[in-house]
Amino acid sequence: MSRTHNFNAGPAALPLPVLERAQREMIDFEGTGMSLLEHSHRGATYEAVHNDAIARLRRVMEVPDDYEVLFLQGGASLQFAMIAMNFLPQDGSADYIVTGAWSKKALAEAKRYGALAGGKARAAADMHVDGVCSRVPQQDELDLDPGAAYVHVTSNNTIFGTQFHEFPDTGKVPMVVDMSSDILWRPIDVRQFGMIYAGAQKNVGPSGLAIVVLQRDLLARARKDAPSILQYAVHAEQNSLYNTPNSFAIYMVRNVLEHLEDVGGLAAVEKLNRAKATLLYEEFDGDFYRCPVEESSRSVMNVVFRLPTEELEKRFVTESQKAGLVGLKGHRSVGGMRASIYNAVPMASVEALVAFMQSFRKSA
Ligand code: PMP
Repeated sequence: MSRTHNFNAGPAALPLPVLERAQREMIDFEGTGMSLLEHSHRGATYEAVHNDAIARLRRVMEVPDDYEVLFLQGGASLQFAMIAMNFLPQDGSADYIVTGAWSKKALAEAKRYGALAGGKARAAADMHVDGVCSRVPQQDELDLDPGAAYVHVTSNNTIFGTQFHEFPDTGKVPMVVDMSSDILWRPIDVRQFGMIYAGAQKNVGPSGLAIVVLQRDLLARARKDAPSILQYAVHAEQNSLYNTPNSFAIYMVRNVLEHLEDVGGLAAVEKLNRAKATLLYEEFDGDFYRCPVEESSRSVMNVVFRLPTEELEKRFVTESQKAGLVGLKGHRSVGGMRASIYNAVPMASVEALVAFMQSFRKSA
């Protein structure tokens, strides 16, 4: 069997042992004579997996007891809307730190909902310069409103390849963080945040599932006028079983979490992630391979780079594919190259990429 070196931005590489396990358990799950896909979400077999996924996320992320862990549908994009529907007060406002395309979308969604149902969403910073964000802001560049209901931050910008290595200080205002492209990349102190959310499809599992970690104090402040399925409180009360959950995706997330624990937890994962990123960033000479991101903001998950000409970039994409390296074309909105090196991308794939880059430079 040959596995491709997968640098896709999401859906992305999953750990091989997790895929093998799913394959093994596909037809007959734990001797029940059926796949987990065919089990009732109200039955004991599925419920054990569901609760194990929640318990493991709590353990791996060290989630304090006064936080809810939810598994919701609709990916991270539905969260853009749900955050406003639950936490943007009718006569209040929320701050958004705009550092890329996804935070821009989150703000646009909150503005849209505010126009409809009351409440204002504003940019506390916008890092776009000529349509590009090449760094995240410093604390003194933030125009934070101390009366805001929350501050929305995107921890890692999947398209521009920037990342907050230290989170902003938002004082008493709860931080709501989109960690779609870097959740679980290292240990964090969950207490810094009112809410963490992430689409699962980069570091944790299949697409279409959003993981939400939500402080109960913040949940208590949520508006109650949204449709039931869009209220966090409804999902929290029902242990994420208000409606039929994405049971297979939750099963996969459970298995990814178990794998993370098996390989030593987030401290071990961070060490490997940093080593992979260092190896790749060291290959940028500022001449042939150029990184457009300021050094202090460079992402450990999405490494973006340019070549001297668009012609060479096109050739790089074609030839890298032929060499078994997939997903290196940058996002269509920015061009260039992007190597997404999430948790499940092995060091061997990064080494293969670096070797390819060196031979491509010689042949160009
Ligand atoms: N936020 C970030 C940071 C993302 O990278 C993405 C997807 N690439 C999203 C939100 C949107 O996620 P989804 O497609 O699951 O709605």
